[in-house]
Parts: sequence; C-alpha cells; structure tokens
Amino acid sequence: MERDTMPADVLFVGAGPANLAAAWRLGQVLKEKGKLDEHVIMIVEKGREVGDHILSGAIMDPKAMVELVGDDWQAKGCPVDADVGDETVYTLTESKARKMAFIPPPLKNHGSVIVSLSHVVRWMREQVEAELGDSVMIAEEQPASDVLLDGDTVTGARLVDRGREKDGSEGGGFEPGADIEARITVFGEGSRGSLTKVLVDKLNLGGVNPQVYGTGVKEIWDVPPGRVKAGQVWHTAGWPLENSTYGGSWMYAMSDTRVSIGFVTALDGGDAACDPYEIMQKWKTHDLLRTLLEGGTLVKSGAKTVPEGGWWSRPRSHGNGFLIVGDSGSLLNIARLKGIHTAIKSGMIAGQVIAEALLEDDATDQVLKRYEERLSASFIKEELWRVRNWRQIFSRNGFSKGRFVAGLAWALGGKILKDPVPIHTDAAAMQKGDAQANRGVRVEEGLTVDKVTGVYHAGSVHDENQPSHLLIADPNLCATKCREEYGNPCERFCPAAVYEMVDAAGDGKKMQINFSNCVHCKTCDIADPYGVITWTVPQDNGGPKYLGM
Ligand code: SF4
Repeated sequence: MERDTMPADVLFVGAGPANLAAAWRLGQVLKEKGKLDEHVIMIVEKGREVGDHILSGAIMDPKAMVELVGDDWQAKGCPVDADVGDETVYTLTESKARKMAFIPPPLKNHGSVIVSLSHVVRWMREQVEAELGDSVMIAEEQPASDVLLDGDTVTGARLVDRGREKDGSEGGGFEPGADIEARITVFGEGSRGSLTKVLVDKLNLGGVNPQVYGTGVKEIWDVPPGRVKAGQVWHTAGWPLENSTYGGSWMYAMSDTRVSIGFVTALDGGDAACDPYEIMQKWKTHDLLRTLLEGGTLVKSGAKTVPEGGWWSRPRSHGNGFLIVGDSGSLLNIARLKGIHTAIKSGMIAGQVIAEALLEDDATDQVLKRYEERLSASFIKEELWRVRNWRQIFSRNGFSKGRFVAGLAWALGGKILKDPVPIHTDAAAMQKGDAQANRGVRVEEGLTVDKVTGVYHAGSVHDENQPSHLLIADPNLCATKCREEYGNPCERFCPAAVYEMVDAAGDGKKMQINFSNCVHCKTCDIADPYGVITWTVPQDNGGPKYLGM
C-alpha cells in the first residue's frame, strides 16, 4: 500500500499537558539558540480539538507551571477556577460521614489550584503556537495508529487509515494513513496510551512492576447557592467500596455554584462485578452528596483510567529516537492524587533534552537517556520515591490496614519490609465469579444517572459506519468461557455500556459492541481477564467532548 510520508524533526503523539510542555520548552531553548526556524515540530492529537479528550479532577500543584511560564503564570492567562481553600477528608459508612481530625499530609492541597485541565491544555496550545510560530504544526483529528520502528529505533508514527467500511474493507474514499517520519517521537498519550503499549511490548520496556489502574468517573454539577464555597475541597474514603478495593472520591468547588465530583475505583479489587460507574452513582446517594446535589443540574460527565502504579511501574522511558512522558510514563503521584505537575515537569525535561539532541545532531539513546538522569534528579523522583510502594501496600493489606501501613511507609520515606513490593496486573487479580451480581444501587431521579445518559453528557460520538475500534481477538470466548467463568465483566466495568451480551440464534448469546458510546477510558483494554480486548484509535476522530471537564 502506498502511503504518504511526512518528515519532522520531532513528533509529539498526544496534545496533553506533558507533550505541550515539552514542545513549549523545546521551542524556548531552540529560540534562545537562534535555531527554531531550522526544525519542524509536529503534534498529533486524536481529539477533534485539543482538550476534547482531556479529563482530570483536577487540583493542580502549580510548581511545574511556575517553572515553565514564570511566577506570573496566572496573569499570563492560564485558566484557574479557584485557589484551594477549606479542605476536609471524610470517612464514609453507608449512613455516616466522619470528618477526619487532620488532613493526611499527601492530601494537603494548600497553595494548589482547582482547574479544568481541558481548559489548561487549550491555553497551553495557544502559548505553544505563539512561542513556536510556523515551526510547530498542531494537527487535530489525527489519531496515530502505530509506531514506526527500525530495529530498536523509533522512526515516527503512522496515522490511522480512513475510509474503511464497517467490515474493515477499503471503501470508495479509502485513504491510507500517512507515515510521519521523525528523528524523535515523544509518547504523551495519557493513561494506557495505545501506541505506548505497543512500544513497551515490542521493545520490552516494561518496568519493575506491571502498571495498575483505577477508573475515575467524573461529573460536573451546578448546585444551588449556599451549598459550597469556591475552592472548598472534600476527599472521601470508605463506603461504598469494599475493604478489598482501593479508591476514593473528591468534591472540588470550582465556584460557589459549580462542583467537580468524582470517584476512582481501583481495578485490582478482584470483584468480577466491579462497576466503577455504578460505584460513583451509589456514592452520590450518600447523604453527604445528596445534600450537596439535590436540586442541582448535571452539566457534564466522563470517565478515564488513572495509572496508579507509580515509580516501580514506570516503563523504560527513553531509547533510540523516543521518549515517554507524563501519565504514559507512570509519573502520577497516586498518594497525592496528582499528575498534572509531574506531567508538565517531565515534558519540560523532555523538551530540554530533545533540544540538546537536535543541536548535537544525535537522536540516539546516548543523548536521550539524559531524560531519565534529569527526571531522577528532579522533584518527580523525590515525590514518587517516597510513595513507591503505596498501591502495592493497599493491594496486599486491603484499605483499612493499608491506610496505616502506607502512612507508616510514607513517614519512613517509602521503604517498608522489602523494596520494591511487587504487584500483579489488574486483569490477573480478577477472581472468577458472577459479574452480573447485584451490588445494590438505588436509582434516584435527579441524582443518579445511567450509563447511556452519562455518555450523552460526555458528548461522545463516533461514526457508526466504520469498523469498531474495540477489537476482541476471540469473540466466541464471550459467549462461552467468559460467560461461564466471569459472567461477562466487560458489561460491568465499561462505564459507557459499550459491551452488551444480546440474544443470538437459538438459546445463545453473542457480544454486541456499541462502540459509538466509547469514552476512550481504556478500562476494557486493562481489566479484561483474558486479554482479548484491544482498544485502538477510531478512524473518524470520534470520542468524548470534555472541554470544561
Ligand atoms: Fe472505556 Fe473500553 Fe468502554 Fe470505551 S469500550 S468506554 S475504552 S471500557
């Protein structure tokens, strides 16, 4: 098949905070050296617009933004909803909310700000374009579908083929995706990046531990005046999670009448019936939330996975012709529930190292390994090292005991018993059982929201006339082995009702994939116990519209 090729010096896959920071810093350095005009920098983004696929809580620790932009980062226009004000941590039982007497140190957010990350990246995009001018091309609606490799050297990425029919055949308007051939490719695709996954597998870049994830479900609500104060922050632990499952929730007051609420459920709790979306809805029926939300209006909703493994789950993030940044590189600090500042900082380090590689005319690992050296000398390592065994401790001890052991480990600088503490993959943790078991969620008009309505509020759409971007390697397994052993957990763990067992001929069932609902959270790619589901990029740039989330 004949493909167009496009040359670039640097290709960034994904327009999230890490890659935008990397491009920004790269431009700053090249400009200082008078070399910016000599280089072609390209950013490809699968969303229709930069920010559309970005979802985070979010409280941002501004330290990396200050380093990147300067002390006047807010005056320069970075959008902030509120400074963090009053903070409370609650332990929930079904009927009570007990305020903790103190805020655990990792959860202290004084000095941080409440933001919509999608708005922040939209602003970063404008700054990158202003700083880099014609030297940068930000290509929206350009999903990258494969990594280009020459031996162990990354030589760029391939854009998705367009115009395939539903059955995968080439339609009349078929266009093969172009190959972008780049000297350096930076993977900043966020959690469970589809190209990063391929790269890590092909070059055997896996970390000391496998990655483990949580699935976060977020909603934005407008609430009546007097319920919250802008900047108010709650975190909750406990109900409705079982002790075996790590997770928790947040409420961030973006203004006096608008709140971001969300719940993250770890995917290694072992319950085949685990349904992060349903857990979020159940949590909303607690009096603490009902009192906040009653009479309010749901504005937006969405879901996304969170890479929770931390330091020991980091893939090798540098090599000939490539770097891996941000969430794709497992740089989120799960104890602090924060990854924006580490993503931005990793991008800044990457940008500096890439500039050096271009100036020294050497894109091999000999130069790019400086990324790892500098990351290890930065606050990223300092933060992540202290909590390097955090998730493993909870996975082994359950939530109640885990809190104390993790707190002790934190006080001791992160070391507890042996180091590193191992962990299994989320899929391996799932116990055989009945995924259809009822977990008792009450439906409450005006408060709980079903999955399909959630998809509507995520703004997610895909063209129906294309191949499913969700691939099941062995669909027979769904109706046979998986049905018997697990009861089709994909029907539960997918927050967008994509997977549905429907009646087939005779008494049987078959899998129907409602791929147009997909909100690109990647839970299925992670939690499927047989490893037969693969998330790939859709050919139509479909997906959620998270601007404002
Ligand atoms: Fe998430 Fe997979 Fe469902 Fe899409 S199909 S919403 S990626 S779990």
